[in-house]
Amino acid sequence: MKKDDALHLRWSISSVPKDVYKSIAEKLKVKPTKLMLDILKTIANPEEAELLVALPGTPPGLSEKTGRPVVEVEARCRRLYQKGLVLKSLMGGSLGYRMHKDITMFRDATAHWPEAPKVYHDLWKQFMEEEWPHYARLEGEACPLPRGRVIPIERSIASGQRQQILDAESVSKIIEKAEALSVTDCICRIIERKCHHPVETCLQVNNSAKYMLDRGIGRKVSKAQALDILKMCEDAGLVHMTLNKSTVDHFICNCCACCCVALPLVIKNGLNLCNPSRYQAEIDPELCTSCGVCLDRCHFGAIEKVEMKDDSPGMRVKAEKCMGCGLCHSTCAGEAIRLVEVRETFFIPK
Ligand code: SF4
Ligand code: SF4
Ligand code: SF4
Repeated sequence: MKKDDALHLRWSISSVPKDVYKSIAEKLKVKPTKLMLDILKTIANPEEAELLVALPGTPPGLSEKTGRPVVEVEARCRRLYQKGLVLKSLMGGSLGYRMHKDITMFRDATAHWPEAPKVYHDLWKQFMEEEWPHYARLEGEACPLPRGRVIPIERSIASGQRQQILDAESVSKIIEKAEALSVTDCICRIIERKCHHPVETCLQVNNSAKYMLDRGIGRKVSKAQALDILKMCEDAGLVHMTLNKSTVDHFICNCCACCCVALPLVIKNGLNLCNPSRYQAEIDPELCTSCGVCLDRCHFGAIEKVEMKDDSPGMRVKAEKCMGCGLCHSTCAGEAIRLVEVRETFFIPK
């Protein structure tokens, strides 16, 4: 019998209070719908759920709260951490554990658990369709600044403006300065399975990389490998995204417009979940051959066909829709598109 199974037997299910799953849903600030409770029950057994409700705390503190022996609590916490249900946290100089603060982080961390059953991903797929848009709308309305931010493809920025590019909007500088890097599968595409874009595309930087590798998820990559992955993502038409802060010590996502937790709701519902970069596409009518490749390349519908003054066909960038990702530049054979700076540096919050 495995050590964990033995613990399971000693920690009797009958002694676990009822409604623990509802309490977890409350902690994650979501409604305890049947679907949400099914998700929670699939990833956490009743004993694990009881411990989650008792968090945050150190193993001795949690032992006191739950009346369980410290050694058992420690083993449970390690298991919860592996499953992505909790994060490690220093508490008064000792190792403690806490839950994720919101449902998106909870989904991402737990769905990455290598032993997660397929049904777990299926339940999340259903949640993303039926319940997530409601929470995304609330988040967009409640937060003055969106959580995400587009990082432009560096080489698409007009050559005269590349010197001013900030560290937080330059993937090459982020990678160059990184102390630790890892790559994992894109959990949105694993769950949604709506497209055939590459999957091993989510790069973690510094603490996020250490966290993933500590959980045994993804693989460590060198700086050169990370740059190759980013280039592969650009070629595949994926949008570089990160958190909307002036430091990038967490992740660089490479998102599609169909499976991503945020982009489809930004594009179809106009939700305030993601800021554009500080740049915008500009088309040189002298160089544009009206081939139309950029129309398909842009996920945001930010390019339209127009009639030029001399009645010839041309292309126009709809400024209000352009997210400044630079994807249109990389497939323009005529080199007619470049990104130009349109927002001040303080647009990226500290
Ligand atoms: S946010 Fe983007 S890259 Fe990250 S997991 Fe979702 S789709 Fe994949
Ligand atoms: S890809 Fe370039 S050349 Fe073709 S329509 Fe777009 S801007 Fe013009
Ligand atoms: S026009 Fe579209 S593809 Fe080009 S930078 Fe803007 S959002 Fe990106």
